[in-house]
Amino acid sequence: MAKTEFKSESKRLLDLMINSIYTHKEIFLREIISNASDAIDKLYYISLTDENVGINKDEFRIKLDVDKENRTITITDNGIGMDKDDLDNNLGTIANSGSFKFKQENGKSEDVDIIGQFGVGFYSAFMVADEITVQSKKYGCDQAYQWQSSGVDGYEITECDKQDVGTKIILKIKEDTEQEKYSEFLEKYKISSLVSKYSDYIRYPIKMDMEHRKMKEGTDLENPEYDMVSEEEVLNSMVPIWQRNKKDVTDEEYNDFYKQKFMDFEDPARVFANSVEGTVTYKSLLFVPARVPFNYFTKEYKKGLQLYSSGVLIMDNCSDLVPEQFAFIKGVVDSQDLSLNISREMLQHDRQLKTIAHTLEKKIKNELLAWLKDDREAYETFYGKFGKQLKYGLVADYGAHKDSVKDLVLFRSSTEKKLVTLKEYVDRMAEDQNDIYFASGENIEAIDRLPQMEYFKDKGIEVLYCGDEIDEFAIKGLNDYSGKTFKNIVNEDIEEEEKDSEENKSDEGVLTFVKDTLGMRVNEVVFSKKLKSHPVCLTAKGEISFEMEKYMAAAQPESHIRAERVLELNASHPAVTALIANMTADKEKAEKYAKILYTQAVIIAGLPVEDPSEYADLVCELMK
Ligand code: ADP
Repeated sequence: MAKTEFKSESKRLLDLMINSIYTHKEIFLREIISNASDAIDKLYYISLTDENVGINKDEFRIKLDVDKENRTITITDNGIGMDKDDLDNNLGTIANSGSFKFKQENGKSEDVDIIGQFGVGFYSAFMVADEITVQSKKYGCDQAYQWQSSGVDGYEITECDKQDVGTKIILKIKEDTEQEKYSEFLEKYKISSLVSKYSDYIRYPIKMDMEHRKMKEGTDLENPEYDMVSEEEVLNSMVPIWQRNKKDVTDEEYNDFYKQKFMDFEDPARVFANSVEGTVTYKSLLFVPARVPFNYFTKEYKKGLQLYSSGVLIMDNCSDLVPEQFAFIKGVVDSQDLSLNISREMLQHDRQLKTIAHTLEKKIKNELLAWLKDDREAYETFYGKFGKQLKYGLVADYGAHKDSVKDLVLFRSSTEKKLVTLKEYVDRMAEDQNDIYFASGENIEAIDRLPQMEYFKDKGIEVLYCGDEIDEFAIKGLNDYSGKTFKNIVNEDIEEEEKDSEENKSDEGVLTFVKDTLGMRVNEVVFSKKLKSHPVCLTAKGEISFEMEKYMAAAQPESHIRAERVLELNASHPAVTALIANMTADKEKAEKYAKILYTQAVIIAGLPVEDPSEYADLVCELMK
């Protein structure tokens, strides 16, 4: 029978698996056991409403067998099983596996460490086996099928005999070589220790026949003789890690659990373990990842937590449990108050679930606040990665969640030169300061050099720098903090002191002149009250700011949303005086000056120059 080839990406990864001299080979067992456990979860779930399953809860198990002579390890489960199509689809391709995508994104296919740290599921078995046979019978089907493969050249699916529903995986363990030893995986003590190390919490018993010495009948302690007997033992403790007392679990155990469960190769940045009793009772074990998942800012990323009811998985990714601003949180929630028989559709409207979601939101907020307080540095690192998400929470659902995020967001401060909270800002505001000042722009450096900043620097007034696209929307969503409203210093309506404007009055003709020269490009030309060393600056008037204009230009180019531009002139700056002088002496020159100064203001505001070649020509002419 012709072999079916693996899908092309699978082939590449498979090749990598087979040929890697890899130190974490041992994770293959954990991967296969975890698949078996998932398969049992699925059948168990069906058995709750379908009595034809005919298996009692306590009959579910994973069985391990080791045959040293034939060099095989067999893993048998009585889970849901696979039919022909499942075998073909699930074991014929790994292109959809999370780790593989990560590898593609990062473009380093030789980086085998990623594989070992969180596995590529089933395929990791090829690190230790040169032939894999899977026999499976799916629940509800009469025919069983066998999938067999010796690696890269493909696989074969044939009918086979198998009485019970479930899956049996037979690994033919590789021969030892000079560099690589595989035989230890044929030792039962080794297999048993791997189960304790990686799969202890699996909720179904993992059983293996173990040989012990047993005292021969008729002999006594004085003069003992022994028989070797074989007895089935359960290798795992079956207590889910989230059910254990926090103080009895080591950091390493939490970290290992996280990495395995959520397919990450880095330890989490923070672990929140909570046990809640009250209107609803639940245990939650939540993690803040240390790195941003590769697909995080794409539609593909699905927020959510694993939902268990008394230890039984009822939903793999329950998105209703986490609000948008905490979408990065991974973890599990286990509650005895959720009905097991509830359908997944009904779950969405479940009152208990809503209560859990509500308390979780508060818990996460408080945990993050505590983190901010007791390890600022680590929190800031986290904020660098997921801060955008928190800020997003200020606008999501029309601001419904802003109270849970407003104390978690940070902004760079002009005076402190570091990230600060809104509370810190407000607490040190001068008594006569009514507003929280912020400035938005492309990045922190550009904002710091804005002409508008001079005034605030001079006065020593703290300004929050908003270098993120979302910042302005976030602030708009927030509206105020502790009764103080936000003011954008790049907008025209901020109050400054009246600058002595005697001299300005006499030159008011320049305002009309510049406006006439620039035409539609600007909405208004005014004398600035805040400029000191810069000749000009551009401010926005009205609802739409420059950052919003830029954002809209990128998001909806056809909308042509434009901020109203106000060009501010510094009447005491030599460049502006020169312009004024030329208005009568050389009108054409004065017009050129006006255009150059306007374009400079546009550049400094970080806006696109409307006519770059005109600007280049003008500057060259001056140099002649
Ligand atoms: P992952 O577990 O990350 O989905 P795997 O490569 O480990 O990736 O497994 C691929 C798929 O094969 C699983 O999602 C599951 O549908 C199926 N599968 C693997 N092992 C079993 C099993 N023992 N019983 C039933 N289905 C299984």
